[in-house]
Amino acid sequence: MHAFPFSHALVRSHGPSLALRRSAVAVAATALLAASLWGVAPSQAQAQAAASPAATSSPAALALQSQIDERAKAIESKLIAWRRDIHQHPEMGNLETRTAALVAEHLRKLGMEVKTGVAVTGVVGLLKGGQPGPVVALRADMDALPVKENVDIPFASKAKGIYLGKEVDVMHACGHDTHVAILMATAEVLAGMQQQLPGSVKFIFQPAEETPATFEPDGEKIWGAKQMIKEGVMQNPKVDAVFGLHASSAYPAGWIAWRAGPAMAAADQFWIDVQGKQTHGARPWQGIDPIVTGSQIVLGLQTIISRQANIGLEPAVVTVGTFHAGNRMNIVPDAASMTGTVRTYDEGMKKDIHRRIHTTATHIAESAGTTAKVKVVELYNAVVNPPDLTAQMAPTLQRVAGKGNYGVMPKATGSEDFSFYQQEAPGLFINLGVTPKGQDPAKAAPNHSPNFYVDESGLIFGVRALAHLTVDYMLAAK
Ligand SMILES: [Zn+2]
Ligand SMILES: [Zn+2]
Repeated sequence: MHAFPFSHALVRSHGPSLALRRSAVAVAATALLAASLWGVAPSQAQAQAAASPAATSSPAALALQSQIDERAKAIESKLIAWRRDIHQHPEMGNLETRTAALVAEHLRKLGMEVKTGVAVTGVVGLLKGGQPGPVVALRADMDALPVKENVDIPFASKAKGIYLGKEVDVMHACGHDTHVAILMATAEVLAGMQQQLPGSVKFIFQPAEETPATFEPDGEKIWGAKQMIKEGVMQNPKVDAVFGLHASSAYPAGWIAWRAGPAMAAADQFWIDVQGKQTHGARPWQGIDPIVTGSQIVLGLQTIISRQANIGLEPAVVTVGTFHAGNRMNIVPDAASMTGTVRTYDEGMKKDIHRRIHTTATHIAESAGTTAKVKVVELYNAVVNPPDLTAQMAPTLQRVAGKGNYGVMPKATGSEDFSFYQQEAPGLFINLGVTPKGQDPAKAAPNHSPNFYVDESGLIFGVRALAHLTVDYMLAAK
């Protein structure tokens, strides 16, 4: 998620309001993106950075490319059927057993070497090309969200699941159902061309991009992409380039959007516990009020971005999402606790903001004669598309989308654990529009909303994008 639109991994705090909070952030982020995309008509210079290299326009290359398009078209109805089946049976992070079984069976039928149970429920298939060449990894995330579907479609989800110990409704509100179906179809397209492929393809079906349903991040345990990497998914054979996509309400169906450099934010989580001294609410001078001190901390944290960080370099966000204290109107409580999220694009700014969160909280507490315990945990790194790889692949994406159907993706304040693959190999992450044509994407229900709706006519563009990126990358490496 997505921010947001992909508010993927919009970070969390304790309690059942997670889905709601995520939706709220998603709404805000989408509005921002839509405003800059549709209101201001961004330059397409970035998306048009490079000319098509000769390797991808030779007669042999053109033959491969038209084969991809024919094969994709031929299985479009299967693609949509898979998506509907997965949509109707959503599973949250680290619980994607049905989805994983479906994927594994499909990849085996295509004749691939398949590993299952990677990072709990992950599936990895290896397609060995008939000719030597690079190893390209394609990644889809499989998990759904604790959201109750409100879309009137025959295959709407009625699923329930256990999220952090509580029963919840479950929905593919971030579109990961489309990612799985798109990658299954891409696998079938490329497997059909196996002997002609100048390189190999690793198909990575990853769990828990939105964080696991089974535990809360605490800075110790890892999951999703990070766990897949730890278990060796980027090795044996070593991956040379990795591509991924996200379905987005911010663009019309069939649109492709991307940007070079920082594209989605790093997401970090913090906890602050303020020590108070309990007393009668009528005699506050006899105690220390952690609510007032905590409130000063909330406001102090807001000055980190507005007064201290150099947002001329990159934007950043600090949000306090929970604040808990007290149980009665006339008692000054013993403690207050809050949690929040930090979004950054620059590693140096990130460390600086973390340090300032510590300083602000502890010193405000000190001024009240007490202490604050501060913990900041890094969750997801920023998604950064390397400028050279992005420029190299831009002509491919332009060709797949067609004239007038692509653009520069504004920076998203949502996060994505695709960023971890990008630390292992050059990687490009793109957005795929899924809002019905003719509808204003700015008004479409964003990812994570119970009303998130996918126009399935956009899905084949995802299959073509991943397959063409793969083959063009291989051809250029020859
Ligand atoms: Zn998401
Ligand atoms: Zn997502």
